[in-house]
Amino acid sequence: METIQTDIVIIGAGYAGIAAAKKLLEKGKDFVVVEARDRIGGRTHTQTLDCGATIDVGAQWIGPTQHHIWKWVKETNTETYDTYDSGKNILSWKNKISTYKGTIPKIDPISLIDLGLAIDKINKLCKQIPLEAPWSHPKAKEFDSITLHSWIEKNMFTKKAKHLFNIGVETVFAAESHEISLLHALFYCHSGDNMEALISIANGAQQTLLKGGTHGMLQKVALPFQDKIYLNNPVLKITQDENIVVVETENVIVKAKKCIATLPPTLLSTIKFHPILPQRKAQLIQRVPMGAAMKCFCIYDTPFWRKLGFSGQIVSDTSPVKVTFDCTDAVTDKGVLLVFVEGNNARNFIELPEAVRKEKVLSELVKYFGNEAKNIIEYKDKCWTEEEFSRGCYAGNMPTGVLTQFGKSLREPFMHVHFAGTETAMRWNGYMDGAIESGFRAVDEVLKTLS
Ligand SMILES: Cc1cc2nc3c(=O)[nH]c(=O)nc-3n(C[C@H](O)[C@H](O)[C@H](O)COP(=O)(O)OP(=O)(O)OC[C@H]3O[C@@H](n4cnc5c(N)ncnc54)[C@H](O)[C@@H]3O)c2cc1C
Repeated sequence: METIQTDIVIIGAGYAGIAAAKKLLEKGKDFVVVEARDRIGGRTHTQTLDCGATIDVGAQWIGPTQHHIWKWVKETNTETYDTYDSGKNILSWKNKISTYKGTIPKIDPISLIDLGLAIDKINKLCKQIPLEAPWSHPKAKEFDSITLHSWIEKNMFTKKAKHLFNIGVETVFAAESHEISLLHALFYCHSGDNMEALISIANGAQQTLLKGGTHGMLQKVALPFQDKIYLNNPVLKITQDENIVVVETENVIVKAKKCIATLPPTLLSTIKFHPILPQRKAQLIQRVPMGAAMKCFCIYDTPFWRKLGFSGQIVSDTSPVKVTFDCTDAVTDKGVLLVFVEGNNARNFIELPEAVRKEKVLSELVKYFGNEAKNIIEYKDKCWTEEEFSRGCYAGNMPTGVLTQFGKSLREPFMHVHFAGTETAMRWNGYMDGAIESGFRAVDEVLKTLS
């Protein structure tokens, strides 16, 4: 067993942990990072396939108002490219296929008005939610007592628009609308500008991709301090008294003055705290379930759908192919169609054998793009609910009653332990940018108490 003495110990080497480490390095502080996995990156993971194409099985896109991550893109000289967004998008509804352009599918005028008004209402409501304290809004209790699903049922009147709105919700939260509190949904939309930005490519969260992937960029950021990162070390126990915090894994004991824990809230419950966490924090971490999402990648020699005039984007009312994007690899030009399976569909789909999943995805794609869609050179899918050190994605979602009763405990330090991670972010909560913000904020807290 190795014993390490340092000033600050960071738990987790995802975007939040690496952001905290980067800032501490810049401030000339002594620190180590303890990471459970055999790699850094957490919910980002860039993989190079046998055919040479690079894919992000975790987070991949960045949006124009995500300023922290853009700064890293520039600092690391990472090349970016726009998500392919030209040509016809496909809407498949009750087995009828039509095409459209832009973010909102071409539907009948009544449903279109219904959908537009609902997005408008959410955008207006969300702007009122204070990002630093959503629970302080005068109607916080009211908003936190109903699910987003209840709001949809009360405020929308056409079946089609409700269904499309719910597909948007699944895409943004990787959860069903009945799993999320309205207050959480409003906070999340405001945190990421508004609902339109969250669902859009142009000027939205899906606008830009990184050459070499998001995990690739993080490795560049972490290069100057990689010797301070202890991989393969799941933290099991945190003990503290008035002078010291001790973080233990099976292989190392780290003695420090301060600790920054960057795990998603629900994973904090896998660590034994001595003394135990304050009761409100302990209750909070029992109540922030991770969403469920699966990414299925179909790789082709070329993005053949482009020459047929398609963008590669599909919206459909039937799983598994409900939402797709063209994520063609800019380095090899291999055509990459990315199929998202989210919420309960993801939980069901991952239980099928891989060969069946592949067959189901391809037979759906053939319906839209013809037999050429069968000619994949590689298939890869990934479900994040199976990951021991994530347990789901894209982030933790708050069900009803959680933000108002427990929200204050999200960022509240416990003795020497400070809490970061995208779930604690104010801007771009749930995204890589929010994770960076949270790591920087936790460092500011720690340095203030140390001085
Ligand atoms: C499929 C998918 C698609 C996504 N798409 C996007 C996107 O396009 N754009 C975007 O901005 N965001 C996206 N996200 C969300 C984004 O990945 C996260 O917001 C961000 O990576 C969170 O970073 P974090 O550091 O807060 O948490 P994490 O990345 O979860 O980091 C926490 C770290 O703690 C480690 N850990 C866990 N338990 C322990 C333990 N006991 N001891 C030590 N270490 C531990 C984990 O291994 C992990 O490395 C996506 C996520 C997924 C999975």
